Formats: sequence, structure tokens, C-alpha cells
Amino acid sequence: MTTANPLHYLSEQIETWRQGGTFPRLRVLESACEPVARFDGREVINLASNNYLGLADHPKLIEAAVKATRKYGAGSGAVRTISGTMSIHMELELRIAQFKNTEACVVFQSGFAANAGTVAAILTPEDHIISDALNHASIIDGCKLSKAKIHVFPHKDTDAAAKILDDLSSAAGRKLLITDGVFSMDGDIGPLPALVEAAERHGAIMMIDDAHSSGVLGRNGRGTVDHFGLHGRVDIQVGTLSKAIGVLGGYVCGSKDLIEFLYRRARPFLFSTSHPPGVAAACLAAFQILEDEPERIEKLWDNTRYFKAAVTNAGFDTGDSETPITPIMVGDAKTAHAFSTGLFDNGLLATGIGFPTVPEGKARIRTIVTATHTREMLDRAAEILTRTAKSMGILAS
Ligand SMILES: *Cc1c(COP(=O)(O)O)cnc(C)c1O
Repeated sequence: MTTANPLHYLSEQIETWRQGGTFPRLRVLESACEPVARFDGREVINLASNNYLGLADHPKLIEAAVKATRKYGAGSGAVRTISGTMSIHMELELRIAQFKNTEACVVFQSGFAANAGTVAAILTPEDHIISDALNHASIIDGCKLSKAKIHVFPHKDTDAAAKILDDLSSAAGRKLLITDGVFSMDGDIGPLPALVEAAERHGAIMMIDDAHSSGVLGRNGRGTVDHFGLHGRVDIQVGTLSKAIGVLGGYVCGSKDLIEFLYRRARPFLFSTSHPPGVAAACLAAFQILEDEPERIEKLWDNTRYFKAAVTNAGFDTGDSETPITPIMVGDAKTAHAFSTGLFDNGLLATGIGFPTVPEGKARIRTIVTATHTREMLDRAAEILTRTAKSMGILAS
């Protein structure tokens, strides 16, 4: 009898990461997700959440979730296509379609499921995907699942994207041009107007992932299509309910027939249970707040400008960011993780991000300010960043 552990290779890999300083620990949140929150037994300034508008623990969302839970229960009991479509799910889809100014909407369990499920459902191996090099992992996985041919263009290079479409003009199959609206690790905005034009010229399907733009860009947070005035010209808009909306889920907006098709063919919709009613109710409350309290978005952008100025003046390289996502470029992954640990010890949570989330050699600390940070918190965060970076030789002292 042999006792060799067939998973031993995983332990070996982990040991390599540990020794290379690229094995970050999971920080455990012991309070609500607030601008100053308790992680691993310590109160720290939280620059690591996607809770842009502070809705994750907003009293109105909590109240809505509790009320719906009492009325409809803790779970939905089935996948959407069997018996797990509740009236509150339909109400949320209608609400989002109206918000986005599209015919229809389908809600998925997460933004990841929305992207992966949609791309895989609408394409076949005959088809072509033209995709930005920095698109989110859920898009990449959807592309792979579709088995369509994948053509990656350099980040935001609209000429390169148009050239690929030109080269494919006599090729068989459908073409899908796909980009993030806001790129999650760099905080830059996708070049939508030029991409939409290229897609229209070549009859390609245009799809945008607005995970980091919904609730952040456009009127009342309607996203990048609204920001650029491209209503009616983007076939598929994906968004998430897990970031600015503060809860959990993803959605796809588009034509009625696109949504009817996804209801019948998107695999996460068919094969994974729908949201608990409390989730849908909290999301509905969040959309109401987007309409009623646009000042939250103004505060988010005020804080963004203030914090970016502070870290830029301190001498940090923040890359090409144009949104509340402000990366602080470090380069080496080991240094980025050590920097993050040093920051935590000094009272600031900002995550070190390395390969495979960003390319090798492009490791960074990622910061995200929210509408609920005060000026004092942001001043203190900039001070901790500067002091820690100087003590570690990341900034010249
Ligand atoms: C976070 C993110 C997603 C996934 O959204 P979830 O709701 O967290 O699954 C998809 N696309 C982009 C660009 C993201 O940043």
C-alpha cells in the first residue's frame, strides 16, 4: 500500500510561493465593510473594498433584505428555469433595464457568471472574439468556454482592434468585440467611442463589462455607455451588483431577445440556484438610493481627486488611472506584498496585487477610495503610504 499524497505537488507550489514572498494571507474582516474596518483583530483604514458608495451596510439595504427574508424566506429553492424565479427577481430585472435604458435585463448570481455565461452562450467555435489584453478573467473564461477563436489586441489599442476586424472581414462566423468599461486593476476607462464605431463598421457585436463603472460613471451611476453618450449602440452591457451596488450578483442588459435567449441557454442561469430574495430586495433598495442620493457619487469623485493628488504629490506612480481605483505601481511582486503587509501594520489595508491578476513585473498596491471616507482618513492613509514606502526604500526618503 502506498501512502504518497497525490496532492503533494500543491504543497510544493505553496512552499515556493511562501519562500518567494508571493503568498499573501487572507485578511479576515470582523466588522461590516466600512471605511475604517476591523481586519485580523485590528482597526485599519480600508482602501481595499469595492464598496464605492458605502451601500454594503446602508440601513435601507439591510432593512429591505430583512423584510424580504421574513416574507419570502432565506433561499429561493431552485434554479431560475425550474421554480426559482421569484417575483422579486423579475422586479429587479425590470428596474435595472429601466435604469440602463435597455429593453431587458437578466440577473446572474455574480458578475463573473454573467460574463462567462453570456459569452459562452452566444458564440460557437466558428466565431471570433476580439478582446482587450487586460479584460477581466471572467471574460477570458467565457471566451475559452465558447471555443470561439480569440484575438487579443494590446490594451486600449483601438487601431489594432479595428485592424483585426478588417483582417477578419471575409472570415466566416460572427465577431464579438469586448472590453471592460473601467479596467479593474489600472482604473483607466475603455476607449468606447472608437471601439463602438469599429464594431458598427464591421457588423460586430459590441459588449461592455461595466463592473467598475456602474454606480461610478454616467448620470446617477448609469455606467460608461451613459458616460460616453452611446445609448442604443452597445449590444450587450454587463454590470455587477457586488461593487458599488453593495450586495451580490451580476446582470446583462440588452434587447428583449438577447435576454430571452440567455434565459434558455446561459449555463449559470440554467444550472445554478438563483439569489435569495433578500439579495434581490437589497439591490432594489440600492438602485433607489442611486436615484435619490446622487451626492454620494459626487462625494466619491471628490474623494478620488483629493486622494490622487495626495499620493501623486507624495511621489508615487499611479499609472493611467482615471477613476476611484488608484494603483500604486511597485513592479516586483514580492515588494508589493511586503509593502501591503507594512501598510497593514501601520493601520492601512491596501492589497498587494501580483501575477496572475496583473502581468509579471507590474505588481502594485491597489487602492479604492469610497464616498464614505472622510478627508482625515484620506490624509492619514496618504501619510501611512508615504511613511511606509520611505521606510522600505520604495520612495526615496
Ligand atoms: C469584479 C469584476 C467582475 C465580477 O463581478 P462579481 O460580481 O464580483 O462576480 C467582472 N468584471 C470585472 C471587470 C470586474 O472587476
